[in-house]
Amino acid sequence: MAHGLLTIDCGAVVRNWRRLCDMHRGGAVSAVVKANAYGLGAVPIATALRDAGCRHFFVATVEEGEALRDALGEGPMIAVLDGFRARQHPRLTSVLNSLDEIRAHSGAVILHVDSGMSRLGLPLSELEALADEPTLLDGIETLYVMTHLAAAEEAEHPLNAAQIERFNEACLRLPRARRSIANSSGIFLGPRFASDLARPGAALYGINPTPGQPNPMEPVLRLEGQVLQLRDIPPGQTVGYGGSWLATRPSRIATMGLGYADGLPRRLEGRLTGDFREQKLPLVGRVSMDLMTFDATDTQRIRPGRWLELIGPNTRDVDGMAELCGTIGYEVLTALGSRFRREYIPA
Ligand SMILES: *Cc1c(COP(=O)(O)O)cnc(C)c1O
Repeated sequence: MAHGLLTIDCGAVVRNWRRLCDMHRGGAVSAVVKANAYGLGAVPIATALRDAGCRHFFVATVEEGEALRDALGEGPMIAVLDGFRARQHPRLTSVLNSLDEIRAHSGAVILHVDSGMSRLGLPLSELEALADEPTLLDGIETLYVMTHLAAAEEAEHPLNAAQIERFNEACLRLPRARRSIANSSGIFLGPRFASDLARPGAALYGINPTPGQPNPMEPVLRLEGQVLQLRDIPPGQTVGYGGSWLATRPSRIATMGLGYADGLPRRLEGRLTGDFREQKLPLVGRVSMDLMTFDATDTQRIRPGRWLELIGPNTRDVDGMAELCGTIGYEVLTALGSRFRREYIPA
């Protein structure tokens, strides 16, 4: 039996997608569902989005793409960001990142131009080669030319304008095609960053695409862990590895069945509270692999089998948890691991 429960609101994901469609005037909006939809479950989320009218999906790998195709059936575009190196896939759309990949493909593809990320995509030098040898694109139908922004969550960052300029120049060297530019944060950068197809991931899942400003997205996730045992300890007794927490009064400790193997890092020691029916329980002692301990001394009616909320309406959103962990919401979600039971609220 899982001691962790993720409740995922597919209706909220769909409403977030619609909000992004409203923001991204003129162009379509895809859904990036790589890494199992940032840990929340690619199949139920992509199915809900498809039913709401989403026609384009992005994944990171062929394996992710094949699993999604089996679930969604024929119809929606499923594009694989890492390309396929040397082979064409009959059911998926390749994102081509190099001249070698272009040589190995025919048919409908997406060309990825590196405008400043220096990660994947055709570098400007390869674009020159492509311009010199246009027959390389014979037999290729370019569905989109795409690029990826490196600093879109910082609206004032000079890379944003520089990347758009480089990308527009690069597109002049390529056959005319539709364009795909913005990730979640890029959609909020204004009309220069609009294109024929936006590629949001994080914002669909409730992560704030405009850090430092109010979150325009709806939360999607509730995370709860189950209490396994309650224990009364006298003052002077310690809790957990290293004896790092010392009871200074007669204390009641609630042990919960989640730990760092579930993506809740040790760094949360001394920072986190859990919520039980609007009572706040401080995390005490070290986070173990499968267990965490909370001070339940002042908490009424808690018993083994009850659930503490760690992310959700009574505690904090994903970004709030990320701040406690010293990371970003993306990492919190993708770290959650496979031991949770995932329950879906239908759209
Ligand atoms: C992950 C990814 C996205 C989605 O980015 P978010 O910031 O989650 O919206 C878009 N495009 C590419 C190429 C990506 O790798």
